[in-house]
Amino acid sequence: METVKHTARYSFSRQGGNYILSIGNHEEIISALGQFCEDEDIQAAEISGLGAVSEATLRFLDPATKQYVDKHFEEQMEISNLCGNVSRKDGKVYLHVHLSLGRRDYSLVGGHALCATINGACELFVRVLEGQHPQRIFDPQTGLNLYDFPKI
Ligand code: FE
Repeated sequence: METVKHTARYSFSRQGGNYILSIGNHEEIISALGQFCEDEDIQAAEISGLGAVSEATLRFLDPATKQYVDKHFEEQMEISNLCGNVSRKDGKVYLHVHLSLGRRDYSLVGGHALCATINGACELFVRVLEGQHPQRIFDPQTGLNLYDFPKI
């Protein structure tokens, strides 16, 4: 059975563990997506989507320094692809999202998504991975928050 919900920041249609999610215009995607995952108590999911943004901050992890280098883009861009996953770190929703953004001249920029503001639409599919509760833990060797699967 299909469930439909409207909130101030997003709307969705859900059937089982499959969501069709539309985030509201001018919302910041990562924050709204985090709110959606908290509201729906999502533990693990796969995210894919598209849309358009007026600005975005992308990150590149320099493996030599283990530091993120951030770059802000302030222009209208198509979300050629948004892909990501949902897990938990210290019990809280942890989003890992990457963006490929198409510019006016049809070139692409891309990277790890720190934040991005919708200007137009943002349409996502969120597929919940039932029964999975992946946690993350900081790995000092890579500087990344990696999946921490229990050793059975
Ligand atoms: Fe990343």
